[in-house]
Amino acid sequence: MTTLISPATGQRIGEAPSASLAESDAAIERAAEAFPAWRDVTPGERARLLRRFAAVVDEHIEELADLEVRNAGHTRGNARWEAGNVRDCLNYYSAAPERLFGRQIPVAGGVDVTFHEPLGVVGIIVPWNFPMPIAAWGFAPALAAGNTVVLKPAELTPLTAIRIGELALEAGLPEGVLTVVPGKGSVVGERFVTHPLVRKIAFTGSTEVGKRIMAGCAEQVKKVTLELGGKSANIVFADADIAAAAASAPYAVFDNAGQDCCARSRILVERSAYDEFLGRLEPAVTALRVLDPGDEASEMGPLISAGHRDSVRRYLGDVDVAFAGTDPGGPGFWVPPSVVLTDDTAAPIWREEVFGPVVAVMPFDDEAHAVELANDSDFGLSGSIYTSDLGRGLRVARGVEAGNLSVNSHSSVRYWTPFGGYKQSGLGRELGPDAPHAFTEEKNVFIAH
Ligand code: NAP
Ligand code: MG
Repeated sequence: MTTLISPATGQRIGEAPSASLAESDAAIERAAEAFPAWRDVTPGERARLLRRFAAVVDEHIEELADLEVRNAGHTRGNARWEAGNVRDCLNYYSAAPERLFGRQIPVAGGVDVTFHEPLGVVGIIVPWNFPMPIAAWGFAPALAAGNTVVLKPAELTPLTAIRIGELALEAGLPEGVLTVVPGKGSVVGERFVTHPLVRKIAFTGSTEVGKRIMAGCAEQVKKVTLELGGKSANIVFADADIAAAAASAPYAVFDNAGQDCCARSRILVERSAYDEFLGRLEPAVTALRVLDPGDEASEMGPLISAGHRDSVRRYLGDVDVAFAGTDPGGPGFWVPPSVVLTDDTAAPIWREEVFGPVVAVMPFDDEAHAVELANDSDFGLSGSIYTSDLGRGLRVARGVEAGNLSVNSHSSVRYWTPFGGYKQSGLGRELGPDAPHAFTEEKNVFIAH
C-alpha cells in the first residue's frame, strides 16, 4: 500500500494499492486475453461503448475533481477542467473506430490496400502533474484503435485513475480492456517495458526516466512515444500589447504551481519594452490568488510533495528573487510564485526544468537574438510569441524548435490538435486526428487480379 498525502495540508488522506511484479504480470496477461475480443468488437459498437464511457465520466466530474483537489492539490477549477478533458477525449476518439480507414494505392496487376491494425496491449505510464488528462490522451485513442490498455498512474496520484478504471467497467467496457495498475515506476512501469506482451509504451514524465524507457524498449524493438520535460520560452516583442502580455504571463507559468511540462518558464522581453513589461508583471504576480486548492477562488495551489517543494526551493536558494507573490503557508507544500531576472544563459534557473512556480526573465536585442535564445535549450515542447506583427508572429513560430507554439496566446494543448516535443522534450505526437494511428500497425495487402 502507498500512503497518500494532501499537498495542501501535508496530512495523510488515505492509501492506495501498490501492485507487485506478479500482480503487474497478471494484469498484463488479462489485458492480452481481452485483446482478441476487443479488437473484434464492431467499429460502431466500440464507438458506442466509448461514448457511454464518456457519458459516465461526465456524470462523475465533480467526484473526480474532488479526488484531484485532495490527492494532487489542484485548484478546483483546474480539476474540473481536467475531468472534463477525459470526457472530451473519449467523445472525440469515439468517432475514430468507424473512420480508421486505410488507403487504396494504384498498382499494376492487382489491388493494393492498407489496414490500420491494433497493436495488442498498450502500456501507458503517467506522471503526477496532470493525472487525468495525460492518462486519457493515451487510453482514449488506444482503445478506439482496438487495443487493450494497462495504465500506471504515478504513485503519488493514483486515485482518479483508479476511479476512471471503475467507471470504464460501469460503462460496459469488458474486463481487461482498460486496467489500472497502481504502483511504483520501478516495479509496474519497468514491467510494462520488459513484458513481451506489451507492444507499445506511451510514457509521460521526466526526460531522465524517458531515456531509460526508450533504452528498455529497444531491447524488444517495442514502440514508444515519449512526452518529456520542457523549458519553454514566452517571447514578448516591444510591438506587442505589453499590458496583455504581462497580465497573461503568470498564468502561462504558474498554472498548476508551475508543474506543467508546457510552462513558459523563460520569459524573453525585447530590451526596449523590458522595464515596462516588468513594471506590469509585478502586480500581476502579486495579485495571483494562491489559496487552498479547495477554495473556488484559488488560482494556484501547492506543490505535489515535500520532496518536490525542497527541490524547487533549492533553485530559489541560488538566485535573487526580484519579486514574488504570496502563499498561505502552513504545513502544506507551498512555494510562492517567484520571478528571477537573469542575463546568464548558463544559469541552472535558465537551463533546467524547475517544475515549480518560478520564472526567469531575460532581455533580448532583436528577432534573431530572441529565436537564438529560445532555441538555446535541450528542450523544445512549447512556446509563446507576443507581437502585433502577424508576419513576425508566424516567422518566429516557425523559427522556434518546439512542437506547440501560440501567438498572442498561451494555449498549447487541445485534444483535437497534435501535441508533442522537439529535441529532448519527446518522441512522437499525441492527440489530434492522427493519434489512433500511433496505436496501430499499418499493413499493406496486394491482391493480384
Ligand atoms: P517521472 O519521475 O519521470 O515519472 C513519470 C512516471 O514514470 C511515473 O508514473 C513514475 O512512477 C514512472 N517511472 C519512474 N521510473 C520508472 C522506470 N524506471 N520505469 C518505468 N516507469 C517509471 O516524472 P515525474 O517526476 O512524475 O513528473 C515530472 C516530469 O514529467 C517533469 O520533467 C515534466 O516535464 C514531465 N512531464 C512531461 C509532460 C509532457 O507531456 N511532455 C507532461 C507531464 C510531465 P512513480 O509513480 O513511481 O514515480
Ligand atoms: Mg519522479
